[in-house]
Amino acid sequence: MAAAEKGYCVKCKAKRDMGEAKQVTMKNKRLALKGKCTKCGTGMYKILGNKK
Ligand SMILES: [Zn+2]
Repeated sequence: MAAAEKGYCVKCKAKRDMGEAKQVTMKNKRLALKGKCTKCGTGMYKILGNKK
């Protein structure tokens, strides 16, 4: 689980590695990863969803 997380960057319009990824819990108690595009620095989210 040490590999870089990937997310969709709206600025690059492509999947990019997510830098400084942190797991956060959103208001609806869903898990998400919050990080930055390693190419352009735009903030990106990845919804992890609820574990089944
Ligand atoms: Zn980007």
